[in-house]
Amino acid sequence: MARAFVCVRVLATVLLLNISIVSRSMGLRGKERQGASRIPSEFSPEERFAMKEALKDAIKIPTVSFGPEEFNTTALAEFGEFIHKAFPNLFKTSFIQHEVVSEYSHLFTVRGSDPSLQPYLLTAHIDVVPAPEEGWEVPPFSGLERDGFIHGRGTLDNKNSLMAILQALELLLTRNYVPRRSFFIALGQDEELSGNYGAQKISALLQARGVQLAFIMDEGGFILDGFFPSLKKPFAMVSVTEKGSLNLKLQVKMTPGHSSAPPAETSIGILAAAVSRLEKTPLPNMFGDGPLKTTLQLLANEFPFPSNMVLNNLWLFGPLVKRLLERNYITNALIRTTTAVTMFHAGIKMNVIPPVAETVINFRIHPAQTVEEVIELVKNNIADDRVQLHVLSAFDPLPISPSDDQAFGYQLLRQTLQSVFPDVSIIAPGVCIGNTDSRHYTNLTTGIYRFNPVYLQPQGFSSIHGLNEKISVQAYETQVKFMFELIQNADTEQRSSPHQHEL
Ligand SMILES: [Zn+2]
Repeated sequence: MARAFVCVRVLATVLLLNISIVSRSMGLRGKERQGASRIPSEFSPEERFAMKEALKDAIKIPTVSFGPEEFNTTALAEFGEFIHKAFPNLFKTSFIQHEVVSEYSHLFTVRGSDPSLQPYLLTAHIDVVPAPEEGWEVPPFSGLERDGFIHGRGTLDNKNSLMAILQALELLLTRNYVPRRSFFIALGQDEELSGNYGAQKISALLQARGVQLAFIMDEGGFILDGFFPSLKKPFAMVSVTEKGSLNLKLQVKMTPGHSSAPPAETSIGILAAAVSRLEKTPLPNMFGDGPLKTTLQLLANEFPFPSNMVLNNLWLFGPLVKRLLERNYITNALIRTTTAVTMFHAGIKMNVIPPVAETVINFRIHPAQTVEEVIELVKNNIADDRVQLHVLSAFDPLPISPSDDQAFGYQLLRQTLQSVFPDVSIIAPGVCIGNTDSRHYTNLTTGIYRFNPVYLQPQGFSSIHGLNEKISVQAYETQVKFMFELIQNADTEQRSSPHQHEL
């Protein structure tokens, strides 16, 4: 997942610019699961031992996604068998239905006792990115425990989430828990590639069954700890939207000829000029049209002078902030659709004028724009009919999920964060400039929240998709505890606003 990684980097840079996003809404107002029916998140030494061993076993199965259509299907199949053994109650409880989707993905339907409550979905992915052994302190698929950490590919992205969800439910079931609110657990097999076999198929299945969800919780976002010397407390970042994506092939075709008598312009020259125009003319700065401005305004008072003054007076300082955000390549990605030339091909022989030149450009689309709008802007910037545009793949930005007092999923995360992580008083809705499996679920809900309930230090941050990925045993236990609490908290009813301003 380049995804959570990217989300973190974006927020980190915003904070480094001393402009942060802080939410301090009032928390969930629904009644908590009452008194005796509440199951405390306390685990015996045996259970704690078993849960870390299960995570190690999950890491040992190399469920690597290598490239398009290149999966380790043996490992994916083995993983399916593994979860049966590790979590037997999930497969023998009468109110839980288990289905395999696309051969290697899994969908659990957990039927609650109160059908009037809208169900929700917890999702995580089984696959991991490749991890060549060079540079690792311990082999990446060993699942070794050392110095209080479990090492290996997937310990942060994203088998920790997957295992914590299943583990929490398994532990609840052993305590005779029966949920009030129904929920689904979706485990995709190919998030690191596209999610086309996993998340997309599961989503289609749920849609065909007429399911609508109260919210979704997916990966992306962490509790950031120690990234900013000026910030004494760790803070949680919950991503509420993702940028869109467009892969565009630009192609110029010309009559081939001998280089001894060249035409005034070659296919390479025409294409290079078009690329140069695109790089020199960035797509519009959209600060003010996306969620960023509103969030900054809402939360301005959380920050010390002069940031609070600047953010409280965007009518005056807006243009300044807009320009400041452009200066850094990461914050620049927050305020506009980015243009990245990633491939360029032309030429077959030193003395031949090439008939074809082509390039691929990857655009990451700002939440306030669409694929169609970007293509139109690109056409206008190129302003040369000889350059043909071919869309290789594209999807629009994800809708912005609500993070206000009435946003059930967001407030549920907040409530659970406050009880499991009392040190975390700041929750920031973020914009993800990468993508996750959750983009396949937009047809099922308006509330998609990307968050891993794990402290992430700078070292851990660089290990995602990098070297020496690891999670502390304690952090993993806490993640299980978080899910154990969240599942129970979700049994609350969503109460309407307490602010009845009747006139
Ligand atoms: Zn991931």
